[in-house]
Amino acid sequence: MECVDASLAPVSGEVFQDAGLIAFFLPMHTATRLAVPLIERARRVNPSARVCCFGLYAALNREHLRTLGVEACFGAEFETALVEFAEGRVVAETAHLARQRFLVPDRSALPPLRLYPQLVTGSGSSVAGYTEASRGCKHLCRHCPVVPVYRGAFRVVSADVVLADIHQQVEAGARHITFGDPDFLNGPAHARRIVERLHHEFPEVTYDATIKIEHLLKHRSILPVLRGTGCLFVTSAVESLDDAVLAKLDKGHTRADFFAAAELMRESGLALAPTFIPFTPWTTAASYRELLASLHELELVEHTAPLQLALRLLIPAHSLLLELSYVAACIDRFDPPALLYRWNHPDPSMDWLSASAMQTVQDAQREQVPRREIFERLWTLAHGKAMGDDPRPARATIPYLEEPWYC
Ligand code: SF4
Repeated sequence: MECVDASLAPVSGEVFQDAGLIAFFLPMHTATRLAVPLIERARRVNPSARVCCFGLYAALNREHLRTLGVEACFGAEFETALVEFAEGRVVAETAHLARQRFLVPDRSALPPLRLYPQLVTGSGSSVAGYTEASRGCKHLCRHCPVVPVYRGAFRVVSADVVLADIHQQVEAGARHITFGDPDFLNGPAHARRIVERLHHEFPEVTYDATIKIEHLLKHRSILPVLRGTGCLFVTSAVESLDDAVLAKLDKGHTRADFFAAAELMRESGLALAPTFIPFTPWTTAASYRELLASLHELELVEHTAPLQLALRLLIPAHSLLLELSYVAACIDRFDPPALLYRWNHPDPSMDWLSASAMQTVQDAQREQVPRREIFERLWTLAHGKAMGDDPRPARATIPYLEEPWYC
């Protein structure tokens, strides 16, 4: 078996040549876009090979993937089906949520961890590993790609498997672990057990996790445990500070909840890394300016990855957003190479602002401009004038992973 990570290096056609089975793992939107030309190449180079895809985005994009010559798509609970398919058995693709008996992942064929995005802190960078203590999600946020596949289900990976996976990555050099669960507190007792064992077994290893605002408030008693077991930061998908938009997205929190969670995190000594979808069909110039002003007021400028202030609502195939007539009216067409629906804001000046914000962030990141300066450039773009002087001292940028989180 040969394992290739197409996100790290170009893939040569030779790798497909003698394969009997070629399987593409599609856990995210970007991975799927990377895979599409490779699937086409695999089909050209080796037309007799069986080709399948697996992972969350294999399930979401199965119709389009089939047009490329993919024989079967397994997701998101794929392991058993993938093995049966590899053994030549006929497998129903519909068993997306079949319960799995999780094994410790075999990472021996993957590139070394040091080639993946590192953790950056004020004192340098360190090797980061990745694991999942659960998959799927109990919640039904309307814009979320997890929802059309899991529809409110989530699956727990046993603590022994998670700890063994962490163990092998620490042995391979990891000093930080990212928990990639869609939401780490879907099972709070499970999460607590894992981080206590992680800290007991590897007291020098830090970690981060993604937790929704609703869970930060509801499970506030676990925050000191996270702080005491090496949690460096918590990513939270805030998405918007406009209550009307949050209701459309069915996010389960309000603007006031976000302010309360930000305060709670500060009191707990935990860094909050909020993520946003600033440009939606409902965004106005005033609400974008208000988002920037609120982050400034909450002293979260250095906590927010600049790209999070320029992202545009992504509408993949099967998105529940398509059920909203207002969104449906904004849709232009499905764009197969991009694997998303193109949409236009009812006010064309908002599409201009969205594109300009993205250009501003990309230019500034190329120049390696600090987060605060990028924020000031966005402020100038949104207000048509520069920010006034801020008497407060700039805060240090919180720890972050070199590759910002977004799907
Ligand atoms: S956005 Fe987060 S909380 Fe909502 S359904 Fe998706 S993973 Fe769950």
